[in-house]
Amino acid sequence: MIEKIEKVLLKESEIQKKVKELGEKISEDYKDTLPHLICILKGASIFHSDLIRNISIPLTIDYLSVSSYGDKTESTGRVHLVKDLDNPIKDRDVIIVEDIIDTGYTIEYLLNLFKLRKPRSIKLCALLSKPSRRRVPVKIDYLGFEIPDAFVIGYGLDFDERYRNSPDISILRLIEE
Ligand code: 5GP
Repeated sequence: MIEKIEKVLLKESEIQKKVKELGEKISEDYKDTLPHLICILKGASIFHSDLIRNISIPLTIDYLSVSSYGDKTESTGRVHLVKDLDNPIKDRDVIIVEDIIDTGYTIEYLLNLFKLRKPRSIKLCALLSKPSRRRVPVKIDYLGFEIPDAFVIGYGLDFDERYRNSPDISILRLIEE
């Protein structure tokens, strides 16, 4: 299998501009509360760390890790918890920070899990969305970019655990040898 970076979809400067806008919007919307920004590892790690530095009000953070992809580029639809949150979210104003919403299975699983813990409110912030791939409806409260149906890497997103360190987001094509 040959991996080919087909093209840069989103440049570092475009991503940083959008993250700044999202941070400003969240700072305004949550100015009277203490939002709790949950990073969904590992894909959202870079986005989450940039986003929180663009939020000007006090906040708290936590990390959770799920897995559904393995080393393939297609979702298995089966989501499982790899690492749970460290802290309770009861009565908190939670913002889930995700890298990308594809089929929607992962976020559906997370919303069901978190709602059982009785947060005061729960919203979703996703950097990317592939609406054409959706299998379950998802409401994205803060969205960076809608993208076409292609497998993307960079800015935290991996293929087989690589490419996360690229500051741009690119389309990766896999070619059978
Ligand atoms: P969903 O459950 O919505 O199908 O997929 C969500 C998760 O699958 C994302 O958090 C991400 O980790 C992974 N994913 C979905 N699409 C892509 C993609 O184009 N590239 C990469 N690297 N991961 C993706």
